[in-house]
Amino acid sequence: MNENETEKLPPFYKTLKNYARKKAALWSTPGHASGRGMQATPAGKDFYEFYGRNLFLSDLSSSVADLGSILEHEGPAGEAERQAAEIFGAQTTFFVLNGTSTANKIVFFATVAPNDVVLVDRNCHKSIMHAIIMNEAIPIYLRPKPSSYGLLGPISLEEMTPQAVKEKVQQSKWVRNKKAPKVQLAVLTNSTYDGVIYNADKVKSLLANQTHFLLFDEAWFAYAAFHPFYDGRYAMSPFQKKRGVHMPAVFATQSTHKMLLAFSQGSMLHFKQGTGKQELDPQGLVEANLMHASTSPFYPLFASLDVSARIMRDRGYELINKALDQAIRFRHVVRLAGERYRKSGTWWFTPWQPPRKRLEKDPAQWKMQPGASWTGTAVNEEDDLLLDPLKVTLLTPGVRADASMEEEGIPAAVVRKFLERKNIVPEKIGFYNLLFLFAPGVSIDRSRELLQALHAFKTAYDENEPLQDVFPDLVAQHPDFYRPEEGLKDLCARLHRFLKKRQIMKTVSSLYSTLPEQALLPHKAYYGLVEGKTEYVPLGEAAGRVSVFMILPYPPGVPLIMPGERFPSEGGEILGFLQISQDFDNLFPGFETEFHGIKKVYENGQTVYMINCLKKIKDISFRMDRHPSAPPEETLETPEQAPSSNGAGPAD
Ligand SMILES: *Cc1c(COP(=O)(O)O)cnc(C)c1O
Repeated sequence: MNENETEKLPPFYKTLKNYARKKAALWSTPGHASGRGMQATPAGKDFYEFYGRNLFLSDLSSSVADLGSILEHEGPAGEAERQAAEIFGAQTTFFVLNGTSTANKIVFFATVAPNDVVLVDRNCHKSIMHAIIMNEAIPIYLRPKPSSYGLLGPISLEEMTPQAVKEKVQQSKWVRNKKAPKVQLAVLTNSTYDGVIYNADKVKSLLANQTHFLLFDEAWFAYAAFHPFYDGRYAMSPFQKKRGVHMPAVFATQSTHKMLLAFSQGSMLHFKQGTGKQELDPQGLVEANLMHASTSPFYPLFASLDVSARIMRDRGYELINKALDQAIRFRHVVRLAGERYRKSGTWWFTPWQPPRKRLEKDPAQWKMQPGASWTGTAVNEEDDLLLDPLKVTLLTPGVRADASMEEEGIPAAVVRKFLERKNIVPEKIGFYNLLFLFAPGVSIDRSRELLQALHAFKTAYDENEPLQDVFPDLVAQHPDFYRPEEGLKDLCARLHRFLKKRQIMKTVSSLYSTLPEQALLPHKAYYGLVEGKTEYVPLGEAAGRVSVFMILPYPPGVPLIMPGERFPSEGGEILGFLQISQDFDNLFPGFETEFHGIKKVYENGQTVYMINCLKKIKDISFRMDRHPSAPPEETLETPEQAPSSNGAGPAD
C-alpha cells in the first residue's frame, strides 16, 4: 500500500486490510481459520472461491488487538465511528451490525423504561413496535393522514401539538399520571415509505417541550446530510436556536445499506444531545448497544460502514446530486412519454409528483401544496412536506386522486410480475403503485432498462398478449385459474374488477383513520403468547377479538394492528382489508400479498387466514403483579363483554 492509498482509506478498513495481509497465525475464532478449513469439500472450496480470499482473511475474531474494540468503541473501530459522527453531523455515532431494526431497539433500551409513554408514528417499521414490546412501553400514536392512492399518508404537525398529544395521553387508559404527560420518546419515520420528507426542524421545535427524546427513523434517508436539497429536514441537521425553546435530544437511525453503500445489515445510530438541562448519559447508549450486539461482530461489515462514511465524506454531495439528476431525468422521461400517449388516447404510468413541465432540484417545486390534487392527501400549509425526488413512485391506471376507481385499471401486482421476469425488482408495490429507489448506485443504464421494461409491459398489455407467453410459469402452476390463451389485458381487467367491486381503495385509504381499541398493552399480549394463552381463529371469526401478533403486509412492513389491540366487533377496515386479501389470494394465486403475523392455511382447496388471538384477557393475569402501575385486572374488558354483532365470542 503506498502512502497515498493509505491516506485515502478510512481508519478501520485500513487497519483491517493491513492486518489481513499479515496472515497472522490465529488460534482463535472463526473456525474456518482464514478460509483454510473451507478446503475440505467441494462446497467449501466453491464458497471460498466465490467470495475470495480476502473476505476470509478479514473475517477475524474480536480478540485481535490491533483493530481496537468494536464493542467498546476503541482503537480504529472507535475512530471510524468518531469520523462518521463528524461526517453525518452527529455528536455520537455507533455502527450497528444488525440493521436499523436493532439500532431502533438500542435507542429504546437507552431511553425507555416500563410504563413510559412513547409517541409513535403509526406507520412506523415493525422494529419500533418490537421495541415497544421489549421495553414494556405505553404507546400512543401519531395518526397519518389518509392517502387516496393507497400510499402511506404523512403525519401532520396537528398530531404533534401540545393539545393533541395531551389528548392522546388522556385518552390512553394505561397512563396513570395524566397531569404531567411528558412523553419519554417520540418516533417519526423520515421520510415516509413513499418518500415524503418532514420539516425536521419544525418537528423538533414543536416536540421540544413535550418529549425527552426524539427519534427519526431514517432507514431510507441516510443521504440527507449531503445535499442542500434536504437542509433542515433530517434529524442531525443543525439546531436552529430559538429563544425559549429547548431542543430535545435527537437520534437518527439509518440503514446505511439501504440507500448508501454498506453491506446489508450495516446501520448507523447517530445521537445529539438536546439543548435542555437533561442530558443522556452516553454510557447508557453504550450499554444498550452491548445488549444488542453480538460479541462476534463481522469485521467486513463494520469495515463497509467505515468505507461508506468515507465515500460520503469525499464525494457525498456529487453522488447525491447525480442521483437527484438521474431520478428527476427519469421522472421527466416518464412524464413526457405519458403526454405523448395521452395525445394518442392511450394510457401510461404516472410518476407521483407535482404536475410541472420541468422539475428541478429546487425544494420549493417538490412541496406538497395544500389542495394540490396530485398529493392525494389533505396536507396543511404549515406541515411543509416535500416529496423526495429519489423515491420514484409510479402510479398505474385505475385510481383517481379522490380514491375512487376507474372502469379500467392495471393492478401493480401484474406489472411487478412482468418486471420480475426481466429481473427488475421494485422496492415495494401497492395495489396501484410501484416504488423505485434512485440510490447512488443506480446508473443511467439501469433506468433505461427499467423504461424499456415498462414500455414492453405496455405493448404486451395493449396487444393483450396471451398469458402462456407473458407468464408461462403462472399458467403452468395454476392451470385452473389462468388459461394459456387468456390475454394480459383480460387478466388485468379481471383483477381490477375484483378490486373495484370490493372497493379496495376506499378500504386502504382509511386503514389508519381510526385506531383499534388498545385492550391490552402490546407486551402483555405478547406474554399471553409466551404463556400459551392464545389460539388461532379463522379471519371470519376475528371480529371483537384481541390480536396477539402484529399484522403487517410486507413490504413495507408497517403494522395494521398491534399486539393487544382488538379488532372492532363490527369488522372495520383492517379485517375488511384482510378479507379482501384472503379472497384475492384464492382467486388469483401467484399474486398473493405477503403478510407477517398471519398463518395462511390451506383447507378444502381454499386459503384461510388464521389470526392468533388471546383466549380470554382475564387469563392474562400471570404477570400483572410485575406491573404495579397497570390498572387492576378487573377493569380489563374480557372478549365476552365486548359488543359483538355476529356472536363471534371467544372459543376456549
Ligand atoms: C428497513 C427499515 C428498518 C429496518 O432496517 P434494517 O436495516 O433492514 O434492519 C427500520 N425502519 C424503517 C423505516 C425501515 O424501512
